[in-house]
Amino acid sequence: MLVFNKKELLRDEIEALKTPKSSVGFVPTMGALHQGHLSLLEKSVAENSITVISIFVNPTQFNNAEDLKKYPKTLEADLEKIKTVSENILVYAPTVDDIYEGNTVSEHFSFDGLEHKMEGKFRPGHFDGVGTVVKKLFEIVQPNHAYFGEKDFQQLQIVKKLVQKQNLPVNIVACPIYREANGLAMSSRNQRLSEEEKNKAGIIYKTLMQAKKMFGTKSAQEVSKWVTNQLKKQNTFELEYFEIASEDNLKTCKRKSKNKNYRAFIAVFVNKIRLIDTISLK
Ligand code: AMP
Repeated sequence: MLVFNKKELLRDEIEALKTPKSSVGFVPTMGALHQGHLSLLEKSVAENSITVISIFVNPTQFNNAEDLKKYPKTLEADLEKIKTVSENILVYAPTVDDIYEGNTVSEHFSFDGLEHKMEGKFRPGHFDGVGTVVKKLFEIVQPNHAYFGEKDFQQLQIVKKLVQKQNLPVNIVACPIYREANGLAMSSRNQRLSEEEKNKAGIIYKTLMQAKKMFGTKSAQEVSKWVTNQLKKQNTFELEYFEIASEDNLKTCKRKSKNKNYRAFIAVFVNKIRLIDTISLK
């Protein structure tokens, strides 16, 4: 398996492998890989002749220095996991300088308001950082298809908007959420939870499932109130937000409309570790 730290060398390899019929699939990640990441990789390998995965903890999307410092970095273990999917995957694990060339700042984007809600509201600058790195990575890899998880549904919508607004020649493929046996959405940050915390965090998904059921007969406000109360009962949890919003524009659901698809979004701190999850309410 080939691992590249420099974009020029990665580009040379992609160009050498390309044929008129080939397609390039791309899976951008921040590493500390788990089965959720690998499911994206498997899809890309199944659908493309060339697959590239990037492993890059992007500093500009972190609004909290402590969170960036504590973000797990496990490159050797990541490479072993990638090999289990395919030996032919190209790995791009660049330094900050290879991506930012000495200017580690975000470009400023307008994503038609998608960026002001939820993650954007509680993590100022986050989506400018995401937009910046995704744009740079797309320029380097030049993928035909790029795979993103619905776990970060707001990010997925933002990336689709980026592609649309900047006319980037790439197809964005949405992939379902992988979960632990107790329902906890797989996340690199779960590595920082104790076994007990991991077990307890299964409540987040159970609460979302119950919210989905309630949304059949109750208003978004009533469901939100119930979820807030449920989470308050867990003394090691701190709810940052719970929101029911329209999938397309992420606007808060005030009154249900029949022709809209809604989704519930949640962010919870479990002992200072920030977890997010989402569920379709359809
Ligand atoms: P990250 O390394 O957290 O930036 O995630 C890289 C990609 O993997 C993003 O597109 C995520 O949405 C996706 N991803 C993360 N966790 C999961 C999961 N549990 N199931 C499916 N995709 C995921």
